[in-house]
Amino acid sequence: MYQQVRKDLFKIEIPLPRNPLRALNAYFIRGKDRNLLIDTGFNQEECRQAMDQAMEKIGFSMDDTDIFVTHCHSDHAGLAGYLSKPQTRIFTGYYTAQEISSKHDFFEYFNNLVRQGGLLDMGLTQNPATHPGYRYRTDEIDETNISVVQDGTVITVGDYSLTCILTNGHAPDHICLYDGHHKILFSGDHILGTITPNNTTWEIPWEVKTDYLDEYLKSLSKIEALDIELTLPGHRDIIADCYQRIKGLRAHHDNRLDNVLVVLGNKSMTAAQVASQMKWDLNIKNWDEFPAAQKLFATGEALSHLSHLVCKGILQKELCDGVIYYHK
Ligand SMILES: [Zn+2]
Ligand SMILES: [Zn+2]
Repeated sequence: MYQQVRKDLFKIEIPLPRNPLRALNAYFIRGKDRNLLIDTGFNQEECRQAMDQAMEKIGFSMDDTDIFVTHCHSDHAGLAGYLSKPQTRIFTGYYTAQEISSKHDFFEYFNNLVRQGGLLDMGLTQNPATHPGYRYRTDEIDETNISVVQDGTVITVGDYSLTCILTNGHAPDHICLYDGHHKILFSGDHILGTITPNNTTWEIPWEVKTDYLDEYLKSLSKIEALDIELTLPGHRDIIADCYQRIKGLRAHHDNRLDNVLVVLGNKSMTAAQVASQMKWDLNIKNWDEFPAAQKLFATGEALSHLSHLVCKGILQKELCDGVIYYHK
């Protein structure tokens, strides 16, 4: 399924079966010599079929199309390997470049998150290899196909001149693309309309040095300073008023920080214990009904908020038998 958004610019909806995100928005820009595809979908049969169909209907091929990947999550990067030809350039940030050329140890990160976040103590026994981020990751990509972009790098495609805006937070090197002439922002998962982008910690929890929530909030301010009329997000509908949405996202995280402090009270709790009592938008009544992947996302979200409060000096943390406990 696709729709033409502007001249030479198309939104392609790639279904994400059995995933609460429902679909990924890829964007295709027709250029003069080379076209650009922004984000791709999971490395999963349904996504491959949807992308192949969209290519046929819109009328382009990967022979003269490059790929831009906004961030490392597999719903965005997953089909990059499948779609690539030897001449394809894959533009992305440094962290994502490492991830899609298999330089990161997913299992070490996963096992530490589960153990130190307290999920193991709450009975989570998910095999990391079944996690959708791992299961539907891209086929390994040769480093020579990857062009690492920086904050401010400009990619020109036909009438579109796209500036890379580094927007850390949702992912370590999330990058939005901004066309100042057309006042269009490709927001990836940095700004979504009706769902809130997940925020987590991207280091071994006990060793976290970066305040990822703070990075995310600063990245919202960076976008707020731009002149934007149309925001094209990585999921769900096109956003008409980006500035209003940024206000809503800030309020969401303020509320979530309050929620974390109320749940914690005067107790000492793990991130997973806090997550199990937080307010979630999911249509699920209790923690036991959360699918394993959602428990992981929720614990990551609790961790980033708890770590933020530790950075601000409001909470303290201690490591006890390999599990982190947070308290006032
Ligand atoms: Zn994402
Ligand atoms: Zn996404």
